[in-house]
Amino acid sequence: MRAAYIHGIRDIRVGDKPTPQPAANEVLLSVSAVGVCGSDLHYYKEGAIGSARISQPFVPGHEFAAHVIEDRPELGLKAGQLVAVDPAKPCGHCEWCERGHVNLCPNVEFMGAPPTTHGAMTELISAAPSQIFPVPDNFTDIQAVMLEPLGVAIHAMDLAKMKRVLETVAIIGSGPIGLCLLQLAKLMCKDKVYAIDPVGYRASLAKKLGADEVADSHTAIADWTGGRGVDLVLEATNSPMGFQIAAESARIGGRVVLVGIPDGDQYVPLSASLLRRKGLDIKMSRRMGHVYERAIKLVAGGRVDVDTMVTHRFALDKADDAFSYPAEFHDGAVKTIILPNQA
Ligand SMILES: [Zn+2]
Ligand SMILES: [Zn+2]
Repeated sequence: MRAAYIHGIRDIRVGDKPTPQPAANEVLLSVSAVGVCGSDLHYYKEGAIGSARISQPFVPGHEFAAHVIEDRPELGLKAGQLVAVDPAKPCGHCEWCERGHVNLCPNVEFMGAPPTTHGAMTELISAAPSQIFPVPDNFTDIQAVMLEPLGVAIHAMDLAKMKRVLETVAIIGSGPIGLCLLQLAKLMCKDKVYAIDPVGYRASLAKKLGADEVADSHTAIADWTGGRGVDLVLEATNSPMGFQIAAESARIGGRVVLVGIPDGDQYVPLSASLLRRKGLDIKMSRRMGHVYERAIKLVAGGRVDVDTMVTHRFALDKADDAFSYPAEFHDGAVKTIILPNQA
């Protein structure tokens, strides 16, 4: 079968991959659609995120929808059924898993995370039953894919501790995660939700999906709030400036949740006094915990629009375009999707 491999920086090629042999209780799945994540773009543009480095041809892809190949009545799965797949298989018995922080499990097997576990940009994949989430009948493959990035946003929003009525929120970055965060912030008790993105078409999309105000620079937040800053900043950029921008946008005593992964695995040096004098409450968000059931409910109920941000679909042969379009902000690309079983 075929798979898209990252061979090196900006070098993606389709090649052969052995058909997976599902272990013990695993389920064989036909991959119908895979999203290109901001993290995948780091592997594409830089070949690594910190110590996670691509040293040999590697199949990316961790946000995907698939169809069950064979009836598995003992699991309640039918042949042809559409499912979403949680890319993470935490060990379940380490200290962090025991404490419920499965997103921090150091023994996790995460599909599409180099160097070891190949991802879903291929025709067939096998997954453990615990990773498989059947979706409602009226879901599209694209909606099933988008449960993963929406799940990342749900996890970050859980960390944001939104408890007080009428809070102001700023979303820094209007990529897929930022656009999910924006919609979740709108659903929760809020006053104004602001969105910042220097890429014009992305800021426009934030406006369309409900942002009260949008701008290309966070300096607008000071104007909108009379210099106060916002109660909560959710940062979802790939910018080394993201942390500083978030800190500058928060009010005194405000909260900052950092979700984005900065280019080069570095934040620019930022002023300790900026963080300290505001007494900021800063949280780092990593992947997600148990979020699929809520993500399914939000999409099924029409409360989060995950379709509008999906701008492009490509066959596996065009995998390079699926990466380069969002990497270069080409042709209005926001979320690009690869369809591995379509010609
Ligand atoms: Zn991702
Ligand atoms: Zn664990």
